[in-house]
Amino acid sequence: MLDEVKGFQVTLKRLFQPKLTQEYPEERRAMMSRFRGLPALRADPDTGEALCVACGLCARICPTSCLEMHVVPSEEGDRELGEFILKSGRCLFCGLCSQVCPVDAITMSQEYELASFDREGLVYTKTELAAFGAQGETWWDAGIGPDHQQTNAINRFDPNRHVMENLRD
Ligand code: SF4
Ligand code: SF4
Repeated sequence: MLDEVKGFQVTLKRLFQPKLTQEYPEERRAMMSRFRGLPALRADPDTGEALCVACGLCARICPTSCLEMHVVPSEEGDRELGEFILKSGRCLFCGLCSQVCPVDAITMSQEYELASFDREGLVYTKTELAAFGAQGETWWDAGIGPDHQQTNAINRFDPNRHVMENLRD
């Protein structure tokens, strides 16, 4: 019985709170800073060159094998990235590719409007992925600092929150 009363209290509380309706797509919600959208390639801010060194680690760790890279010989006689393909229809947006990258060349962008009428529309090339990533920060660096307290704020579901609140006071 007590549980039902408690539940109804929540309903009553919400009933009188102001309603917020956003007219999507004219209005768009700001995504959380650590939101994981389409994987994107990052570039050096000084030279504009892609940071990717074509090591292939991201493709190896990807659980759905949706990353492909084509390596070509470089002018210096070494190897460099020729093309980088993401088949987004298979992507889980898990972020493993960006976590494993040794040079932070791939990150998760905030792009989420990815619907397409054909399969070709789900395939992204190096140039397209760079347009999303470019000079963006890595997604796990976002959300740190006083302006982004959502990552370490006291959570109302945290069983220790009362202890933490007392420590804070
Ligand atoms: S986010 Fe996950 S599924 Fe998507 S490309 Fe990266 S590793 Fe693969
Ligand atoms: S994005 Fe990173 S992990 Fe993937 S091939 Fe390039 S350098 Fe290697």
